[in-house]
Amino acid sequence: MRFHVKDDCLFPVRDKEKETTIPISQIPIIPQPTLNLNFVFNPDLQLLLTGKQLILDDLPFTLEEIQKHYENGYVTYRKGIEYIRGLPVCSRCGNKEENWFAQFPCSRCGEICLYCRKCLMMGRISACTPLIGWNGPNPVHTLPESILGWKGRLSDGQQAASNDVVEAVNNNKELLVWAVCGAGKTEVLFAAIESALALKKRVCIATPRTDVVLELTPRLKAAFPGITAASLYGGSEERHLYAPLTIATTHQLLRFYHAFDTVILDEVDAFPYTVEESLQYAAVQARRPESAMIYLTATPNEKWQRECRTGKRAFTTIPARFHRHPLPVPRFTWCGNWQKHLKKDKLPANVLHWIKERIQNHKQALVFFPHIPLMEKALPILRQLSPDIEAVHAEDPDRKEKVQKMRNKEIPLLLTTTILERGVTFPNIDVAVIGAEDDIFTDSALVQISGRAGRSKDYPDGIVTFFHYGKTEAMLKARKQITVMNHEGIRRGLIET
Ligand SMILES: [Zn+2]
Ligand SMILES: [Zn+2]
Repeated sequence: MRFHVKDDCLFPVRDKEKETTIPISQIPIIPQPTLNLNFVFNPDLQLLLTGKQLILDDLPFTLEEIQKHYENGYVTYRKGIEYIRGLPVCSRCGNKEENWFAQFPCSRCGEICLYCRKCLMMGRISACTPLIGWNGPNPVHTLPESILGWKGRLSDGQQAASNDVVEAVNNNKELLVWAVCGAGKTEVLFAAIESALALKKRVCIATPRTDVVLELTPRLKAAFPGITAASLYGGSEERHLYAPLTIATTHQLLRFYHAFDTVILDEVDAFPYTVEESLQYAAVQARRPESAMIYLTATPNEKWQRECRTGKRAFTTIPARFHRHPLPVPRFTWCGNWQKHLKKDKLPANVLHWIKERIQNHKQALVFFPHIPLMEKALPILRQLSPDIEAVHAEDPDRKEKVQKMRNKEIPLLLTTTILERGVTFPNIDVAVIGAEDDIFTDSALVQISGRAGRSKDYPDGIVTFFHYGKTEAMLKARKQITVMNHEGIRRGLIET
C-alpha cells in the first residue's frame, strides 16, 4: 500500500499518485499519533488486534475504520518488510535469506514489489504491507471465583518443578523444565498458569505439533473451567478469539506480537520448531518485553544440556515418572547386517525370536524402523507370524485408525517409523528398534522411543531393545541420559528402590 505522510501521520492512498506517496517500507520512521482518550474505539477491533500483527486481508473491517483508529492512536502500523543496512528482513517471520524473497507486480502499490516466501502460507507480506496492531487499552476480562478446577495431586518430583515454574512465571524469568517421558509435565504447569491468570496476565502454551494442541486443549479447558481458552492451529475456528489462555502451534505465533506475559513452549526439541528459525523468531516476537518463558522437554539438545551443566541456563528436572518406577533402560543387541537379510526377505534370527516371543506371550510391542521401504519389506515377513500386524508412517492416511486399533489391543505388533517416537501412550508395551545405528535415530529420538515403554502404573516395566549393526554415539548418549535420570530419581527419593 502507498501512504501519504502529513503532519506526523500516515494516510493510505488508493489512487497511486506516485509523486507524493510511498510504499510503507520506504518511510524512514512510522509516525504514531498519540492516544485520543475521547475517541470511541470499536471493541471488536480491540479484541481482534490486541497482541497481534495482522495484515488487511486478516481483518473483517474496512480500511477507513482501521485508519480512523490509527489517526486516534489506537492502531499501529509496522512495516511488513524492514530494510536493515539495505537488506530486507520480514517483520513477521524474521526471514532475511535472499532466496526466500521474490518479486511480483503488485496492484496495491503499483510497483514491482518484494515479498517474503517463507511465511506466505499466512498471507502475503510484501514491501508495501502494513502489519497492523493495537495500541489502545487491553480488553478487560473478569475472573471466575476459582481459577483452577483441577483437584489432582502432584508427585514430589512434579511438586518441586511446579514450585520452580511458579517462581519463574511470577518473576518473568526463563526456565527449562527437563522432565522424563511420562513424568506428567502438563500438571506441573497448572499452578503457574493459575498464578499468572490471577494477575490478569495472558498465557500461551505453544507446541510445534497440531496433535499436541488437540490433546492439550480439552485437558486445559477442564483444568481452568471458567477461563476462555483459544485453541489455534491451521484451520482452527478460533483464530480471532481473544482469550486469556491460548493453546497454539508455534506456526500460529506468527500472527502475534508482544502478546503474552507467559509463553510455555512444549516439546522445544520437536520438528519443525528445531529446524525452522522462523518459528523460534515467532515465539520470541509473541512475548511481551517483560515476560516469562518456560521450555518443556524430555530431551534437550546437546547445547542446552551443556548450558544446564555449566550453569548458563536455568532449569529444573523431573527425573522420575509419576508412578515412581525407574525408566526402562535400553538393551543393545547386535543383529548383523539386517538390511542384507531384508533384501533376501528375511530378518535376523534374534529379531525374529524377540518378536515371536511377544506374540506368543500376548505382549504388545512397537517396532521402530528407520525408513518406510525397509519397514514395508519387513511387514509381509512378520505377517507370517501374525496376520494382524500393521505398519504406520507419517503419510499413512489410516494412521489414526491404526493407532486406535493398537490401543484397543486389536493389533499384536505395530511397526512404525519415528512418527510414533513421541506423543503416543500405550499402557503395556515392549519396544524394539531395528537398525538403531541409523542416523535418523538421534539420541533424543532414542530417548523418546524408550520412553514409550512402562508408562502405566499398572505396568511400569517394559523391555526396550535396540537391535543394531554397530553401536553409535547416539545410542550410548541416549542410554546414558536415561541412567543418569534414574540415578537422580533414586538420589532425590522419587523412585522406589
Ligand atoms: Zn516472512
Ligand atoms: Zn506492493
